[in-house]
Amino acid sequence: MDLRYGPEYERFRQEVREFLAETWPLSGEEAKLERVQQSARFRKRAIARGYLARAVPRAYGGSEQPPDVLRASIIREEFARAGAPLDVGAPAAQLIPTLVAHGTEEQKRAYLPGTVTGELLWCQGYSEPGAGSDLASVQTRAELVDGEWVIHGQKIWTSYAHWAEMIYMLVRTEPAAAGKHAGLSYLLVDMQQPGIDVRPLKSLNGDSHFNEVFFDGARAPADRIVGRRGQGWNVSRSTLQAERNAVATADTTLKQFSELLELAKSTRRNGRPAIEDPAVRQRLVEIEGYVTSHEYSSHRQLTCAARGESPGLIGTMNKLVGTDIATRMARLGLEISAEGALDAPYHHAEMLTGGSGEANPVARFLHSLSIRAGGGTSNIQRNIIGERGLGLPRDFAVQKRKAPA
Ligand SMILES: Cc1cc2nc3c(=O)[nH]c(=O)nc-3n(C[C@H](O)[C@H](O)[C@H](O)COP(=O)(O)OP(=O)(O)OC[C@H]3O[C@@H](n4cnc5c(N)ncnc54)[C@H](O)[C@@H]3O)c2cc1C
Repeated sequence: MDLRYGPEYERFRQEVREFLAETWPLSGEEAKLERVQQSARFRKRAIARGYLARAVPRAYGGSEQPPDVLRASIIREEFARAGAPLDVGAPAAQLIPTLVAHGTEEQKRAYLPGTVTGELLWCQGYSEPGAGSDLASVQTRAELVDGEWVIHGQKIWTSYAHWAEMIYMLVRTEPAAAGKHAGLSYLLVDMQQPGIDVRPLKSLNGDSHFNEVFFDGARAPADRIVGRRGQGWNVSRSTLQAERNAVATADTTLKQFSELLELAKSTRRNGRPAIEDPAVRQRLVEIEGYVTSHEYSSHRQLTCAARGESPGLIGTMNKLVGTDIATRMARLGLEISAEGALDAPYHHAEMLTGGSGEANPVARFLHSLSIRAGGGTSNIQRNIIGERGLGLPRDFAVQKRKAPA
């Protein structure tokens, strides 16, 4: 197996490195801007060079590059190495491919340019109190009244809803449709309007990242449906696949592992660096085995993409395994952290601008648990792998719910 990229791609890597050395982090007056604005300025330059928004046409603010998974992989590696913002934050990053694939011309022109730079902030309104893993049970409804959608219902766990300007949401527009997957639509809605009440939920770490969002007569123009009316389930599948592919990538895992090694070298435990403690070394070696296997699965995923073959369920496996490794690393980091480290600040806002998020080891550990649920819990990934990958019988609980009375 030859894992080298070859001279043409190594030249490209060098170009990306030079660009990053010149442009990130921002300097002078620009370095005083808010993080989101800094990130947007940088992203505009990176788009102009063809490094970001590669699959988005220029007419919609992207850099419209020919598909090249090796270049894309080099960009990911180099941006991660430089700590430069790569994604625009989970909700918007997932919407971009969905809008490119299913949006109307007007929707693409209106929303993609601000979304790819990160200036237009989105949140994702899928989950409801009775619809999480079983997402097709969404009850929030939208009715067409005098040419506008009028929305009633409740969403929950809506990340960043307290900052977002727009929400993309799954709503029931055809309540009489047969089957819960039918009759849903994918709707784009302005957040700043009467009829929307955002109530932040306090997390264990004291942060407010999630929200409950109540809709009581909120409105959206009739042409804000993405894809066909009543076909929102299929549209939401493309957003969810993008989310699963983006969570716990091998680049993130490798970066977190190198941070863990640094922590083990720089923190003293029982009078010597933690990395010299045999118990810590044993755990690090175990984790390194998982990290390496994750890295090699992502090479397999890349090889499939480069050959134009379907990667099958490797993305789902990577989400399951990558989030599990993140928890193992965060738990060990928490155990060996130096006294005083627990006072380190916690900035969830960094997640929006592509940063790794947490300097505080407790927050990092809690976050590692929560990403196991985002985009579908680990159990749900296991069900998908078992049923679609291994051909096992369908989940017993689901079969039971579907059985005739
Ligand atoms: C960090 C984070 C960010 C999130 N951001 C958003 C967001 O922005 N927008 C949004 O809409 N949602 C968001 N969510 C919600 C997330 O999508 C849901 O938490 C997730 O889908 C699980 O749903 P639930 O919480 O209702 O749990 P439930 O579905 O009630 O599940 C509870 C437990 O039962 C298990 N379970 C359920 N069904 C099965 C089954 N069939 N087989 C085996 N086990 C099962 C689950 O694995 C879980 O352990 C976010 C969640 C997290 C943690």
